[in-house]
Amino acid sequence: MELTFLGTGAGSTLGSKRFKSGVLVSSGTTKLVLDMGSGANYRLEDLNALDVQALFVTHLHVDHFSGLLDHLVVRKLKGLPTLKVYSPPGLRSVLEAVKLAGNNVGAEVEEAELPKAKVGDLEVYSVKACHSIYAVAYVVTDGRRRVLYSGDTTEPCETILEEARDADLVVHEASCVTGCDSWGHTGVRELLDLIPREKLVLTHIPSWLEAEIIEASVGARVAHDGMRLNV
Ligand SMILES: [Zn+2]
Ligand SMILES: [Zn+2]
Repeated sequence: MELTFLGTGAGSTLGSKRFKSGVLVSSGTTKLVLDMGSGANYRLEDLNALDVQALFVTHLHVDHFSGLLDHLVVRKLKGLPTLKVYSPPGLRSVLEAVKLAGNNVGAEVEEAELPKAKVGDLEVYSVKACHSIYAVAYVVTDGRRRVLYSGDTTEPCETILEEARDADLVVHEASCVTGCDSWGHTGVRELLDLIPREKLVLTHIPSWLEAEIIEASVGARVAHDGMRLNV
């Protein structure tokens, strides 16, 4: 499996250095995306990877799905197949409102409390995350290796920590250095005590806290937009 970070910023990030959440996962001819915040869609275009087969949305905060709207327009213009989108309940009504407002775009949306699907070579399932609104975390596996993507969550979140034990790589949000649990997020200091550093890759980094988070992340990797990892 190969991971490419499309967007590694948090909702509060300003500017284009770190776009909003998105990770491209590919294996052979299979390509899927975990979250598509604003800007993540442009990274996908830069990578010439518009033909992704599926998108998995963790939750309905705009920094995790708003890039989808532009992506659907481009797909339509390019004549690409309808995108399969897996999401917790709520996304279908957002897309219906966009369509009603006069946009000729659509996707095949499958909503579930715990979305799961097989896409080409990859199997994806979800567990409940611990966030300020209903949210899930995703596990992607090619049958050999497992990647856990937290989406937005406060730690300790038992469901996520349990999946982290079996994961080869954990892409986890780190929205502050310490003490952001009351906003539904995780601080890097708290996280480093819970998940082995060597399998951690931190994302969802507010640009104004980037230097402090990098400094506090000793032993763990901090993702940046465009970063690629082989798992
Ligand atoms: Zn977020
Ligand atoms: Zn959120």
